[in-house]
Amino acid sequence: MILGKCPYCGGNVLSKKITARGQKVHLYHCEHAMKEKDINDDYVFSATSTCRFQVYSNVLLRWNKRSLSELEMKKLLQEGQIVVRLHGKKGGSEYFKPLILDTEYGISVLWDTQLS
Ligand SMILES: [Zn+2]
Repeated sequence: MILGKCPYCGGNVLSKKITARGQKVHLYHCEHAMKEKDINDDYVFSATSTCRFQVYSNVLLRWNKRSLSELEMKKLLQEGQIVVRLHGKKGGSEYFKPLILDTEYGISVLWDTQLS
């Protein structure tokens, strides 16, 4: 499934289901950023990869967002920014933050931006 254009190289961004550390997650990655399992069973970029764009769907798990959906990723690639709902520990209040494409980490949250 093609989600959009890679912000790094303009290639297609694909969605792939993988199991990483026992968790089933989606890996959103550029078609030129291919992952393969190494001898330690970890996913690493293959030698033929020419791009590094990848985002795991559980990237925001630390802020209690279980999954960045394919739809959200699609919108992010299209518009360059989306708003995500995050929340603190159980019972904590939820809050909204802008999520943008990042040239180094794939995505990043604009923590200092207050959304009303
Ligand atoms: Zn790329």
